[in-house]
Amino acid sequence: MSPSLSPESPVAAKVFPSPNHGERKDGQHPSMIILHYTGMPDAGEALQWLCNPVSQVSAHYFVFEDGRVLQMVPEARRAWHAGVSSWNGESDINSRSIGIEIANPGHPGGLPPFPDAQMESVVALTKDIVTRWRIPAVRVLAHSDVAPGRKLDPGEGFPWERLHRAGVGHRVAPAPIRDGRFFSRGDQGMPIEALQAMLAMYGYGLRINGTFDEDTEKVVTAFQRHFRPERVDGVADASTITTLRDLIATRPANPTA
Ligand SMILES: [Zn+2]
Repeated sequence: MSPSLSPESPVAAKVFPSPNHGERKDGQHPSMIILHYTGMPDAGEALQWLCNPVSQVSAHYFVFEDGRVLQMVPEARRAWHAGVSSWNGESDINSRSIGIEIANPGHPGGLPPFPDAQMESVVALTKDIVTRWRIPAVRVLAHSDVAPGRKLDPGEGFPWERLHRAGVGHRVAPAPIRDGRFFSRGDQGMPIEALQAMLAMYGYGLRINGTFDEDTEKVVTAFQRHFRPERVDGVADASTITTLRDLIATRPANPTA
């Protein structure tokens, strides 16, 4: 992509090209959006890294704290942002998605809030992309959703409800946290199998084996980060399970349509 080209989204101010992209495989087109934080203290450095051929990483768009948006990779091309990942039984997430990097120091920087101006741009950009590519609400996801064992971004401080209010993404109000029965590491049996089946049904890459193992804990943690951020502890309490059940119940009938 030449810098003289204009961005594909009207929300982006200009093109700042990254060489790190390839062809989408198996004729895939964008059918999901993956949100990231940069996880670096300095946005400019993060941007340079995403455009450095040595890094072998990139995204389609970059959103600064002040709301400025740059396009780095053409939407038709496969940017390199998700890495080893899976959703809904599909593993090549890069071929299926548009990746957006949001400048934020992330967990290493103490999870500072995402400024208003930045969130306004994220809302406008995601809204534009889901409309143009007809991306289903249930496929606007966190990097941590598709790579729960490896990634934490954009983190439990990301205001998903703000996107949802603007009609972007799938969300239910998290069920209130109360005391009661819960499941955690080491538990086994039918309830664990049912929990794993529900998480897998929603899209998470997880083996259904009836044991609350390390992978299950990581997926429960990723689920909480996105959908029940008030407590992110990897323990499947009643609030977590009810929130998951409500999400499945309110999922559009044909999520891939
Ligand atoms: Zn990421």
